Formats: sequence, structure tokens, C-alpha cells
Amino acid sequence: MGLDDITTKLAKAEVDAGRAAGSVTLIAVSKVQPNDRVRHVLEQGHRCFGENKVQEAAGKWPGFREDFADIDLHLIGPLQTNKARQAVTLFDAIHSVDRPKLARTLARLAQEEGRCPDLFIQVNTGEEDQKAGVLPAQADDFVRECRELDLPVKGLMCIPPIDEEPALHFALLAKIAARNGLEGLSMGMSADFERAVALGATHVRVGSAIFGERVKG
Ligand SMILES: *Cc1c(COP(=O)(O)O)cnc(C)c1O
Repeated sequence: MGLDDITTKLAKAEVDAGRAAGSVTLIAVSKVQPNDRVRHVLEQGHRCFGENKVQEAAGKWPGFREDFADIDLHLIGPLQTNKARQAVTLFDAIHSVDRPKLARTLARLAQEEGRCPDLFIQVNTGEEDQKAGVLPAQADDFVRECRELDLPVKGLMCIPPIDEEPALHFALLAKIAARNGLEGLSMGMSADFERAVALGATHVRVGSAIFGERVKG
């Protein structure tokens, strides 16, 4: 547990997978964590963080940005179009692009704001009703649509069903990315990030294994 332990495990997973050292970005998922735990990880020198709610991120990250330079903030949760402008100005990457309306809104906002975060398209690899993301069969069309809008699509993201072997979902995501010429793969969380690295993850999203169990308020 803790940042040092996870960075050590991540480095070993890179070696085991024959990947270059430092080729996987560790996103420390700080949602719902008390500020003192987040500050502690910042003081250890880590700079890449993930949040799943725009509102919550807007409440804490502008303050941290005053105290720490070079923070790299990723939105990993669903994005409503009415919060898209705030997301475009607050985040450096958005991992949850999952529908044409959101893509069109982001394209317009990128023009208006003169900046666009790196984008990942979320794929609902388990085809779960309650989960966001485009279906695997629609992914190629949606990638094309986003590219036609000149959006900076860097890769794909998935959250496997909790009761299934995640490796199957990681492999499916990697296959969809490869056939679309996308390099980024946002996959793997506390319980399975090493398997995700073995299957090509470029970004792992690790929360509780770094910060401890989330404290519900
Ligand atoms: C919370 C969350 C994570 C991190 O989960 P842990 O199991 O705490 O590592 C990763 N990805 C998404 C999309 C999340 O919402």
C-alpha cells in the first residue's frame, strides 16, 4: 500500500511485460480522499491524478495547483455536457468521451477556449446497461467521428465488469485500439493494474492501493 509500493510494482510489471521503464503513466485516483492524503502524495513528488467528478475536482485542484507546479489532472468519470466547459478548462485529459453529443460539444469548446485536453474514448467492453461507454461494435465509427471533429483522441478506456476476468476486457480494448491506430490504453485499477500493463496499458488508474480505502462522507 502507498505510492512507493505501487510505483515499485508498476516498474516491475513494466519489466515483466518487456515494456520500457516509465512507459506506463500512473494516475493516482484521489476521488473522495481527504485533502491531507492527497497533499501527502503530492509532497512525495507525484503529479498525475484522477478524479471522477467535475464538481469535486473544481473544489480542490485549483488550490493544489497554487502550491504544486506541473499537476497533470485526468477526468476518469462520466461527463455531462453542461459541465464540459468546466472540464475543458480544469483537466489535462478526459477519459470518458462516450457519445456524439459530447464529442461535438468538446469540439466547439476546444475552439472557444483555445485548448483541448487529451481525449480517451470509453468503451463499454462488458456491454453493461448501467455502464457508460460506446459498445465495442460502435467504437470504430465513433473514433472516426471524433477524428473528423479534429478532437485529439489519444486512446481508449475501459472499466471491466467487476465479476469477470479483466484480462479479456483489456485484450479486447487493446485490439480495438490497434485496429484504429490508437496508442493510448487507459485500463487497470488497484486490483488488476499489473495484468493491464501486461496487456499494453499506457495509463493505469489506481486509487485505494495508493491512498487507502476511500472515506465516504
Ligand atoms: C475509482 C476509480 C478507479 C480507481 O479504483 P481503485 O479500485 O480504488 O483503484 C479507477 N477508474 C475509475 C474510472 C474509477 O472511478
